[in-house]
Amino acid sequence: KQILSNRSIKRLDKDVSDRIAAGEVILRPASVVKELLENSIDAQATRIEVSLLDGGLKTIRFKDDGEGIHPDDLNLLCERFATSKMTKYEDLLSIGTFGFRGEALASISFVSHLTVTTMKENSDFAHQAYFENGRLVPSDILGASNPKKCSGVKGTTFIVEDLFYNCPLRRRSLSNSKEEYRFIIDLLMKYSIRYPSVSFSCRRLENAKYDFFTPSVDSELASIGNVYGKELTEELLEVGPLCTSFSFHGYISNANFSLRRPQYLFFVNGRLIEWQSLKKAISSLYNSLLPKGGHPFIYIDVTIDPHRLDVNVHPAKRQICILDEEYIIEKLLHSIETKLTMTSSSRNFYTVS
Ligand code: ADP
Ligand code: MG
Repeated sequence: KQILSNRSIKRLDKDVSDRIAAGEVILRPASVVKELLENSIDAQATRIEVSLLDGGLKTIRFKDDGEGIHPDDLNLLCERFATSKMTKYEDLLSIGTFGFRGEALASISFVSHLTVTTMKENSDFAHQAYFENGRLVPSDILGASNPKKCSGVKGTTFIVEDLFYNCPLRRRSLSNSKEEYRFIIDLLMKYSIRYPSVSFSCRRLENAKYDFFTPSVDSELASIGNVYGKELTEELLEVGPLCTSFSFHGYISNANFSLRRPQYLFFVNGRLIEWQSLKKAISSLYNSLLPKGGHPFIYIDVTIDPHRLDVNVHPAKRQICILDEEYIIEKLLHSIETKLTMTSSSRNFYTVS
């Protein structure tokens, strides 16, 4: 065992501390896709195309048709805590975008090789920039400038290569590229329900064929039909809006229908959230109604006054802190329960996988 007691305290090199912090935001390829996807929605994209090599472990190619990035901003694009979405601490109280910490692209660039190609509307050409450790890499010996001009279309394409090349432990713990691919498809499926007007696609980089595709449609229900099948939509009940201090909207499967694998999609103010306490409560409600081994489909989109919500709890923003969480859960449960009992009929149970 090493003797640590007589060592003095030293500051970590910035590159080391940045890489450690990046590991909290970027856990796996799906975290990269989630951060890029939220940026694209913030940038008003209507079409998002993801192509992956080795489930994203080797390459993530992510293309949007959003508003693009001004070439003058490329210098700061991957610097930690550089953002166009807030300026003062109080802005956190009314944050209306996904992003605000200016950490995502920085984090990605600390743990991968990142190339960004972007073009604003009405520009004559695009710019391509290559980043490492939060910085634009200085131009190479051949003198090719970075960023450099190139042809392109409006929008932004990110190419993330060799994720965790400099974090060998993390890289080794992610060995199953099929599983990583599934995580990404699952994420895209969920976001495509909440953002039906955005068209999403995902494919393996080496295949022209899409493994996942949603066209732009005009309702969440239409999107659920595209993603989970029309049969499911026929078994759904609409819930919401209710309440004064918050509102919600969603679709829940009825008491005569069940899935072999549970599907819980919770969004709060547009963000996909792991809401364990709500999930547990809803699951025990359905447990008393569904046959053993059966699970519901639940999609709930909650809108809360941003003042009552702290999204700044975790860098990956999957957890949030809601004031009056218990009250909100109680109200949601009550409304689900009422809807289920109101519409439960004597039809036969059946289970779908
Ligand atoms: P944040 O989203 O918290 O601001 P990011 O590191 O995710 O931080 O992004 C930094 C900035 O880069 C954003 O504030 C935005 O101005 C710009 N940006 C990132 N992705 C896109 C995109 N797809 N289209 C246009 N601008 C983008
Ligand atoms: Mg962001």
